[in-house]
Order: sequence, then C-alpha cells, then structure tokens
Amino acid sequence: MVSLGAESVSGLLSGCNSTKKMGASRFITPYEQSPLPYRFDALEDVIDAQTMEIHYSKHAAGYAKNLADAMAAENADRNQPLETLLRKISGFSSKMRNNAGGHYNHEMFWQCMRPKKSGNSASGKLLAAIEKKYSSFSSFKNTFTESGKTRFGSGWVWLVKDDKDELAMGSTANQDNPLMDSKGVEIKGLPLLCLDVWEHAYYLKYQQKRADYINNWWDLVNWDYVQSRYENV
Ligand code: MN
Repeated sequence: MVSLGAESVSGLLSGCNSTKKMGASRFITPYEQSPLPYRFDALEDVIDAQTMEIHYSKHAAGYAKNLADAMAAENADRNQPLETLLRKISGFSSKMRNNAGGHYNHEMFWQCMRPKKSGNSASGKLLAAIEKKYSSFSSFKNTFTESGKTRFGSGWVWLVKDDKDELAMGSTANQDNPLMDSKGVEIKGLPLLCLDVWEHAYYLKYQQKRADYINNWWDLVNWDYVQSRYENV
C-alpha cells in the first residue's frame, strides 16, 4: 500500500466536504494489486473459477506489473494517488494509459462484485437517484446492459457521478476510464460501478454470448459497495 499524506488526499477530493473526505479516502486505489476479496470460485455459477483465476492472476496482475514498469520508465510520482495520475494521463505514453487504466478498472471491478444474490438491487439514496434519472431500476439495467452489448471490441461500461453530481452512464474502449483526460474517452465522472466486457472476462463460459454474461452479472453486483462510493466520492 502507498501511504498518502492528508495534502494529496484533499487534492484528490477537492470539492467534497470534510465528512465525505474521510469516507472517500477508502476509495483511493493502491498501485499494487490488492487481494481478491473472495475465492476464485465464489462467483460461480455466473463467472466460473477458471475465468476468475486467469483474469485476476494473469490479466489484472499484468496491468499492475506493466503500470509499475511504465511509472519507473517515465518517472511518474508514486506518491500521488493513481486517480490523480489518471486525470492527467494524456501527458504520458499509451503504455501508461493502458496499464494505469487496466489496473484501476480491475481493482474496482473486483469490489463491484460479491457472491450471487437473486433479487439483487440497489437501495436507499442510490436507488432513489437511479429511479429519478432512469425512471426505474429495470430501465437503468436495460440501458447499462445495452451499452455493454453495443461496445464494439473490448471495453468497459460505467455508472458515474458527473460534474453536476448527477448519475451518467456510458462505455469506454480498451482500458480507458471516466477519470482520464484523454481525447476519445466517451464518459467522464467519478466511477461508481464498472463492468468488464473484454472477452477474457467471460469467453470460457459464455463464448460469443456477451449479452448472457451481462444479464447474469447483475446478480453479482455489490450494491453496498456501489452505494458507499456514491455517498463518499
Ligand atoms: Mn479484464
């Protein structure tokens, strides 16, 4: 874990009130890969253990390693939060962009899931905000699912809080994410929920059927985590 001074944390979170700052520091992403918060087989039968093992130990571990290499090669400051680096990623190489994004996105993705729960739903203030913006929870899920199905090639789907503190949804290509200042990033804001739609996330079990993977994935969403991001970032 990288330890961060109060100054860098408040810089990251400028614009938030002090109560939010204390909660939000939990959402600063370490540069090293964090332990998976559950076993490889914990997400069966939505995501099989072999997919999880390869995804975490090979793909995601690779992004973390390549990010460390790029930071050393480009003299990037490891004392700044990863989120701060992402906000100025256009000033770095494409290797930095791909691997900083790849590491951040996966660290968040693991947290966004938990073992399968049928009837899984958002609640509280987050549910109220979703219903206000998308008229119902099911129409929100449909729009998000559609965004994942129509993302051409590899990428991610996002629910974010935008600069007006409103919910927004969209997808990004490759390992881009909504924090990045790069051209071509189609959705901007503070990430609340993310979904990996790269084939490596689902191909062993679902082959080309990305829509089936996304439909089943809704039972895995850790709404407590998403809600706490919504209230604290
Ligand atoms: Mn992935």
